[in-house]
Amino acid sequence: MAGSSPSRTGAEEPTASRRSPWRWYLDVPLIWKLAVALVLGVVAGLVVGPPIAVVQPLGDIFLRLLTMLVMPLILLTLIAGVASVSPKTLGRIGGKAFVYYLVTTAFAMTIGIGVALLVSPGAGLSLPGDAEVDEETAPPLAEVLTGIVPDNIFSALAEGEVLAVMFFALAVGVALAFMQDSTDDHLAGLAMHLRRFVDGGVELVFLVIRGVLQYSPIGVFALIAVVVGETGADALLPLASLTGVVYGSIILQIVVYALILLLFRAPVGRFFREAKEPMLTGFVTRSSSGTLPVTIRAAERLGVRKGVYSFTLPLGATINMDGTAIYVGAATVFIANVTGTQLTLTQLATVAAVGVLASVGTAGVPGAGLIMLTMAVTAAGLPMAPVALVAGIDAILDMGRTLCNVAGDLTGTRIIAKSEPGMLVDPDAPPEVGEVDEADEAGTGQSGAG
Ligand code: ASP
Repeated sequence: MAGSSPSRTGAEEPTASRRSPWRWYLDVPLIWKLAVALVLGVVAGLVVGPPIAVVQPLGDIFLRLLTMLVMPLILLTLIAGVASVSPKTLGRIGGKAFVYYLVTTAFAMTIGIGVALLVSPGAGLSLPGDAEVDEETAPPLAEVLTGIVPDNIFSALAEGEVLAVMFFALAVGVALAFMQDSTDDHLAGLAMHLRRFVDGGVELVFLVIRGVLQYSPIGVFALIAVVVGETGADALLPLASLTGVVYGSIILQIVVYALILLLFRAPVGRFFREAKEPMLTGFVTRSSSGTLPVTIRAAERLGVRKGVYSFTLPLGATINMDGTAIYVGAATVFIANVTGTQLTLTQLATVAAVGVLASVGTAGVPGAGLIMLTMAVTAAGLPMAPVALVAGIDAILDMGRTLCNVAGDLTGTRIIAKSEPGMLVDPDAPPEVGEVDEADEAGTGQSGAG
């Protein structure tokens, strides 16, 4: 399994007495290092306050390291993944992903609105006098759809346009699959070389990710310290009820994921053991697209084949935003409460529709949810001024919703893999020599993983 065997580098295990501090650091499980970094970051942010912003460059380096890997990873894993399955299987996987993403996002929106209506956050809160927020409108659907087809793959890569890069990789992957099956020996031979090149590239990027992850505790410390130091308790306290509603709903949504996994007879404990690394990375980076390298690694460890995750994860990072839907729903109710507006059913339905649709056109980057919120508020005809209140604690809410977005993408990927013959292998089984993701239509290797 790519990126998961501990002795890939072939390094000898030194005896305990000769272990250098670096070796010791490497041997501590990543999740512990991240947990310690998180706690230290919160403490540093609370103690030092806004001046902790000096450590921001350490966090930026982490974000840049992850972002640096996203485009090569999507391109290579998707070409390799698509070339390993038949177009029919791919179509089925795409259909399932789309339905899963739409249904869970609608569900999340309902949870967000429902819990907020029950708790009524923001009632009795007064507005800041100087609040001013720009209105945002959703880009026209036609624009979103044409944008999926790149006119220049290099600029799409450079601009980080996930859907456009996915489109290109899909086209190349399908062509490669046909080339592999060609009756012309020369073409089939070339396809084999290309395939090995792409597979090798994927493994190479996985190795780089492993290196980047060793830096992640420093990045986590810096990012969390800056958010806590800059937001501070003063900003958070008046909005504690909204924060409570958003985080409470996110917990409910994660329970929903656990139930979905149970329904598909997936081992929930094992799933969350692997998922906590990407969930935590999403929490601190506030970007589900940026977290993709870590989410993909977790999917590998769960035994999901490239044929599924190479497609469902980048797609999910771009269009599936359950945590964001919760936030948009809850914050809209909060805004109505602050302004003393009684929301009508039509307004609620408008918010839900905008929330679900806008997530398709909004990338998984920090603060994207705030843009979606302004779209929903505009569409529902509510006053814009209270959005400024929410914007004050957006980073804190963004952390929770990104964690939820990442968990949703991985849950969908896991159950879709389970539903497709041969797309889930036992993650604990040793990789076969020369293993490639063959077109496993026949169902070889399906084990129900773990
Ligand atoms: N930051 C979120 C994500 O990357 C999107 C949002 O702002 O809600 O998934």
